Amino acid sequence: MTGLADLGVEWERLDAEELIRRTQQRFGPKAVFACSFGAEDMVLLDMIARHRPPDGEGIRVISLDTGRLFPETYDLIERARHRYAIPIQLVFPDAEEVEQMVYEKGPNLFYGSVEGRKRCCAVRKVKPLDRALAGAEVWIVGLRRQQSTERAVTPKVSADPSHPGTYKMSPLADWTWNQVLDYVKQQEVPISDLHARGFVSIGCAPCTRAVPPDADPRSGRWWWETGTKECGLHSAAVPAPAAPERPGLLARMRAAREFSVAAPRDVLVL
Ligand code: SF4
Repeated sequence: MTGLADLGVEWERLDAEELIRRTQQRFGPKAVFACSFGAEDMVLLDMIARHRPPDGEGIRVISLDTGRLFPETYDLIERARHRYAIPIQLVFPDAEEVEQMVYEKGPNLFYGSVEGRKRCCAVRKVKPLDRALAGAEVWIVGLRRQQSTERAVTPKVSADPSHPGTYKMSPLADWTWNQVLDYVKQQEVPISDLHARGFVSIGCAPCTRAVPPDADPRSGRWWWETGTKECGLHSAAVPAPAAPERPGLLARMRAAREFSVAAPRDVLVL
């Protein structure tokens, strides 16, 4: 398997479709797309499907089934399975951990305290994601800089401190919401019925609500809390510490002298 250095490009200059195409070619199933089935992720799923190699060894698509998703999200998963000939792996939380948590704190512990909410997100999202990303070299996500102040500095590609040896790729980092909607319309991409009802950012049902058109897109998530609207999956979206190294990947880049790691964002450049 070739590394990021072999692409010989400045990632920030590539548009989303080109990023997907090159990642698919070079990394195949070593690149993992974690699809939440929001509109941004449906755009990426459509791109991945259209650039899938004939041998089927393309980007692996997974989704975190927390057990608390909207019925509309499951409907969309079914529609996506029929529209795109791509296996979609639903990743579940550890049943014993969920049982223990609910036994101790109840099914809706997230409303009781920030600590409870973070525990629920850790059990239902963060740990299953860690398991799904084991061995991956690239983690593809649908983050956009306009989604929140925490995401305003999201690079298209950066080292992910939460998953050493893995690079996080946000092909739509520089897209606006209108660009997302334009793509959906042009390519007739299926999206969640919830978007038409005012849900912009869609997560778990008990923790997501609709927002007014001019509101912060993330304000409908954990609306009863103040402060950062993140669940722990995207801690690297804020300025990150030094790049993690896994023997092989970064070493290959540096040896090849094709990339440098730009401080402070660890963006890979030519
Ligand atoms: S978003 Fe809510 S229900 Fe979903 S994992 Fe986090 S706290 Fe639990």
